[in-house]
Amino acid sequence: MKCIYCSTEITKKSEEHIIPQSIGGKLTTFTVCEECNHELGNKLDKELSNLTKIASAMLNVHRDRGKSPGIQLTEKETNEPYVLKSKKGLKSASDILKIGDNEYKIYYNNEIDLEKKLKILNKKGNKNLILNGESQYQDNPKFEFMFSTGNYKALRSIAKIAYEAYLHFGGNIIWVKHLISYIKGYSAGYIVFPNYNEYPAVEDFWDNKPTHSILIYGKTEIRQLIAQISLFDTWRYIVILNDNYLGENVLITFIQNIEGEIQENKIEYKNIIFPPEIEKDNLQYITPKNTLILQSYSYRLQRLFAYENIKSKIGTRLYTDILNYKKGTIITKEIAMDISKNSISNFRSEVIDFNNSRFQT
Ligand SMILES: [Zn+2]
Repeated sequence: MKCIYCSTEITKKSEEHIIPQSIGGKLTTFTVCEECNHELGNKLDKELSNLTKIASAMLNVHRDRGKSPGIQLTEKETNEPYVLKSKKGLKSASDILKIGDNEYKIYYNNEIDLEKKLKILNKKGNKNLILNGESQYQDNPKFEFMFSTGNYKALRSIAKIAYEAYLHFGGNIIWVKHLISYIKGYSAGYIVFPNYNEYPAVEDFWDNKPTHSILIYGKTEIRQLIAQISLFDTWRYIVILNDNYLGENVLITFIQNIEGEIQENKIEYKNIIFPPEIEKDNLQYITPKNTLILQSYSYRLQRLFAYENIKSKIGTRLYTDILNYKKGTIITKEIAMDISKNSISNFRSEVIDFNNSRFQT
């Protein structure tokens, strides 16, 4: 068998994850040689993991190797450091924060806990610390998660997913081989486009895990071979695999959730219901230097994050008044969902160009 990237004969089997393993991808292939697997994995898969790492950490994406790392964040109103960890939600980075010369903020559960933490501080050489005001845990710390479509490398890694999936499901390499140089970074081109035109928000996310999906269709009549890739139901792309496609009609559907459960995995050749035609003029271009920031499209993720954060507190009491719930109210699942839904209020409905250096290549 020959490698689908470099055409050399594969002598040593090497397992390639079509959707990167770091985001829970389950679909694998053995059609990539060890060298190409290593090279592209380092260059491209890493980029995609990086782009989606907050989602992976917060949603506890299953990985075959290792845990999702914690992510450092700063709370918007207090500027305090927080850590985001899977299953644990957002926690203050430390129970004892130095906020000035000989001035600390201590988070504590009860008087005994407070005594203990004061002792720790005094041991470290602080003398005569006095209590000055009360600290409270925040039930619902404010964070602004920003997601971008990713830089040029991330787009190439989306093309890589589409290319590998098409061949994995039996596609003919003659229709897609021109993508190799794009994926490897030897040539540029408008092949991958962010795709946010027709997706309504998914509402039933409380119990259903977000999904990764790959949809590939070849439609002879309009000569298009197109892939639609969606990660976490949030990052969505169109890949133009070939716009002079003369092969047979085909529709490939692969859907898995982030826990690795495969929900759809099929190829159809007949009686296909094709997705709406892609109007190339309506596609949004991004250049190697610009990326787009997702706003309303990350709405679901934002609320899911808020829910993940408060979920661990179901059964305990609210520390503060939130919405119309009074301090001391026992948090039920319904209250947790209500708070999560309503705590994300900055709802804007467009994808915009974004100049923040954080998102530049
Ligand atoms: Zn190779």
